[in-house]
Amino acid sequence: MDNGPDTRKLEPDLSGAAGTPCERLQAVQARIAAAVAEAGRDAATLRLLAVSKTFDAAAVRDLAACGQRAFGENYVQEALDKQTALQDLPLEWHFIGPIQSNKTRAIAAHFSWVHSVDRLKIAERLSAQRPLGLPPLQVCIEVNVSGEASKGGVPPAELSGLAEAVSKLPGMQLRGLMAIPAPTPDAAAQRAAFRQVRGQFDALRARGHALDTLSMGMSGDLEAAILEGATIVRVGTALFGERKTYA
Ligand SMILES: *Cc1c(COP(=O)(O)O)cnc(C)c1O
Repeated sequence: MDNGPDTRKLEPDLSGAAGTPCERLQAVQARIAAAVAEAGRDAATLRLLAVSKTFDAAAVRDLAACGQRAFGENYVQEALDKQTALQDLPLEWHFIGPIQSNKTRAIAAHFSWVHSVDRLKIAERLSAQRPLGLPPLQVCIEVNVSGEASKGGVPPAELSGLAEAVSKLPGMQLRGLMAIPAPTPDAAAQRAAFRQVRGQFDALRARGHALDTLSMGMSGDLEAAILEGATIVRVGTALFGERKTYA
């Protein structure tokens, strides 16, 4: 190591790991409020989903004590363990991870929302397995943002057919779309990806789907998502700090 000037402090700190849980929550809420104001939107149209994957029940409890109610999880068993430990709290749980067929029964029974539906077979299982005593499962279809080398999400060409089929299933209500664009520090590229999702959302609404939810934007790109119409931002790192175990 040389002793040259330390330029690291010039990098924006998106980790948000500093401060108490309530300070981190307030910092994220301030970012959301600033973006909502820049977009000329009504703050009531934006919800914060705290993504607690890899963090323990105590970390969730700390954030809940600051007033946060909605939490997102990617792994079923991990989520069920936290739900059991936190059943004294009035929390709302959202499933946001890839969905395996053998996990649909637990997801249908233990979550209020699922953001990551990308196949009809999975939607049909969630529909059939949603317990009758519960309100309809609130569902977003995950769309694959083009240019993304990845992962989940229905290809754009199949979105309309999937939305049509999902919207007819009992036990669930199709609320909108979710997307995870490839991370980039380039704000213009972030906005272009989110704008594409917004276009798909508007097209479905134009076809008569009563959708009100655009789940997009994370710790590194929530401002761009809000400027392009996000209604739920899913934030992990900026609230809980860097994840040490898995992505
Ligand atoms: C982990 C995760 C997030 C949170 O990402 P951060 O960059 O930590 O804010 C949001 N959405 C999904 C689907 C995730 O898996």
